[in-house]
Amino acid sequence: MPALSELEDAFLKAKKDREFQKELSYLQRTYIGRPTPLYFAKRFTEYLGGAKIYLKREDLAHTGAHKINNALGQALLAKKMGKRRLIAETGAGQHGVATATGAALVGLECEIYMGTEDIKRQALNVFRIRLLGAKVTEVPIGSRTLKDAINEALRDWTTNVRTTHYVLGTVFGPHPFPFMVREFQSIIGKETVRQIIEAEGRLPDYLIACVGGGSNALGLFYAFLNLNKSRLPYQVRMIGVEAGGEGIESGRHASRFAGGSIGVFQGCKSYLLQDIDGNVLGTHSVAAGLDYASIGPEHPYLREKDVIQYTYATDEEALSAFELLSKTEGIIPALESAHALAEVMKLAPKLSKEKIIIVNLSGRGDKDVQQVARIKGIEL
Ligand SMILES: *Cc1c(COP(=O)(O)O)cnc(C)c1O
Repeated sequence: MPALSELEDAFLKAKKDREFQKELSYLQRTYIGRPTPLYFAKRFTEYLGGAKIYLKREDLAHTGAHKINNALGQALLAKKMGKRRLIAETGAGQHGVATATGAALVGLECEIYMGTEDIKRQALNVFRIRLLGAKVTEVPIGSRTLKDAINEALRDWTTNVRTTHYVLGTVFGPHPFPFMVREFQSIIGKETVRQIIEAEGRLPDYLIACVGGGSNALGLFYAFLNLNKSRLPYQVRMIGVEAGGEGIESGRHASRFAGGSIGVFQGCKSYLLQDIDGNVLGTHSVAAGLDYASIGPEHPYLREKDVIQYTYATDEEALSAFELLSKTEGIIPALESAHALAEVMKLAPKLSKEKIIIVNLSGRGDKDVQQVARIKGIEL
């Protein structure tokens, strides 16, 4: 609790601190490359033959995904708090890379916890993290994957809290993390409001994003949630897309809403894939970033209030969206983002041509090319 209280105080102070905000926005511009474009996907739209589709290009952010928005914000905050060391957990390695990047940028030591299984599967990202000057620590216990890495990182943090800041990678865990990560990611939606008004003179009808922990979704949705509360003539509808894996019936998926129930895990109460005794179940998704047993706690809250709707896309649907966007637009999306695109492929043809959909293209697919080749039985 003292660590969490200290962090909450520091973050609330930084939010109001002009110097901090100035430095953050300077680095968002010159280092991350913000604002990322809002791109009208003309050929993807024509192919589907319905609503106009815009892509928010987080894939063009430095390191290739939205995760840097949060990692950079927290690295700056840690520096401001006088910490000298960053730690983080990573599954696929994306958040590890983003955190190691943030640490290198502001000049902090960095240690990344990663399960043995993930280290084996993600050799390239492990090397990348080491190149960035961080240490990768193997977690050989439990299922040897992301949830075990989170446990180890939390343990390290409680032991070394005086010198160390824990950079949680999504809107998950104990307060203030879900709130703080959402704040750092909300730049996505703030830019999008401006950009869509400039392009179309109005707000969109739909926002669609994939949901792992849920940070790129809340990052895009948050500015619009506030607009929906105000004097709009219509509501912007928001859809979060979870990983349906091999289908809900197969049990091999990560759809917490479709297949889970409420539980308490790793510092928050949320939806969780668990057995009848509350043991956390194994998950599966072709997209490593969506492959997690729980979801950030603000999502069940917003679902209950009927503000956001949730659905899922299967591995197969995501893979076909991955190929379709590549062919029609020359943009290879991350497999995570391809889940959001799969929902667009179902929805857009049913809507008239005046409707507008914005999809969060949370990351680029270069990291996934080898895996997709393997699935298609192609030797590289
Ligand atoms: C990590 C990741 C996600 C899932 O995380 P959220 O917190 O749900 O955004 C989605 N897309 C990409 C490209 C990622 O790297």
